[in-house]
Amino acid sequence: MSFNENARLDSSRVSDRRGRGKGIAVGGGLGGGLILILSLIFGSDVVDGLGLSDGGSSAGSGYSESISECLDGADANERLDCRIVGTAESLDSYWGPALAAEGMAYTEPGVVLFSGRTDTGCGSATSAVGPFYCPADEQTYYDTAFFDELVARYGASGGPLAQEYVVAHEFGHHIQNLTGVLGASASDPRGADSAAVRTELQADCYAGLWAGNAASVPAPGSTEPFLAELTAADVQDALSAAAAIGDDRIQSMAAGQVNPESWTHGSGDQRQAWFMQGYDGGTIASCNTFSAPDLDNP
Ligand SMILES: [Zn+2]
Repeated sequence: MSFNENARLDSSRVSDRRGRGKGIAVGGGLGGGLILILSLIFGSDVVDGLGLSDGGSSAGSGYSESISECLDGADANERLDCRIVGTAESLDSYWGPALAAEGMAYTEPGVVLFSGRTDTGCGSATSAVGPFYCPADEQTYYDTAFFDELVARYGASGGPLAQEYVVAHEFGHHIQNLTGVLGASASDPRGADSAAVRTELQADCYAGLWAGNAASVPAPGSTEPFLAELTAADVQDALSAAAAIGDDRIQSMAAGQVNPESWTHGSGDQRQAWFMQGYDGGTIASCNTFSAPDLDNP
């Protein structure tokens, strides 16, 4: 568990499109009209080569339940979809004041659950992309079947923080959209030292920032935070997810070798290091990957 059991959830925070994306995800990736998309794991143009099997795993994966049943933290501890609702609300409760302290206004990104495929402001997307953020419509997208793949295929732990980290990373891209750094990724999209990698590692750092502060920011209208104090095991769950989706791990799984020149997200070690930089560093300024001389040592 990671949520305080009595924290009240507002399921209207999340838009649930599961069960609507009937299409089989042939070939994967995004359809026409791609503007810019920031996936948790894949650069937008390598999706076809590396995508999640075929999106078919999402069929019939327990979405008969409705997120309107997500009422409180106990539900978030129990059910993945409720955990996404609660994580989004916790992220809102952290980022609003955190950005205000920097003189910036926070707007809530959309949170969309889907299965198979869905339309976005960045074009039509399938599960093969993995979780992603579309800056054109300022929404984050999650096929909930991905979270099973994270464990079964990528070897992450199945702990709640592994899943919450994924949501927090995508919110990190929204913060970057608000602060204006997000566009850098498109002009320098690959390589170990690229703007794309620096953008992704910063989103990991922002996820760590939230994780380090989530248990001390109260939920709206309450004195109690959404999240309980994290344990060392919780933090390990997040780190295991960060390592599992490092470019080095994914490349060696897909091609049997590692090629830093084509990295888009950074190595597993780097992703862990920047998550911890945010977790321990505690300020937005501690996440300045763009001025870091050595991405291996934040
Ligand atoms: Zn990302």
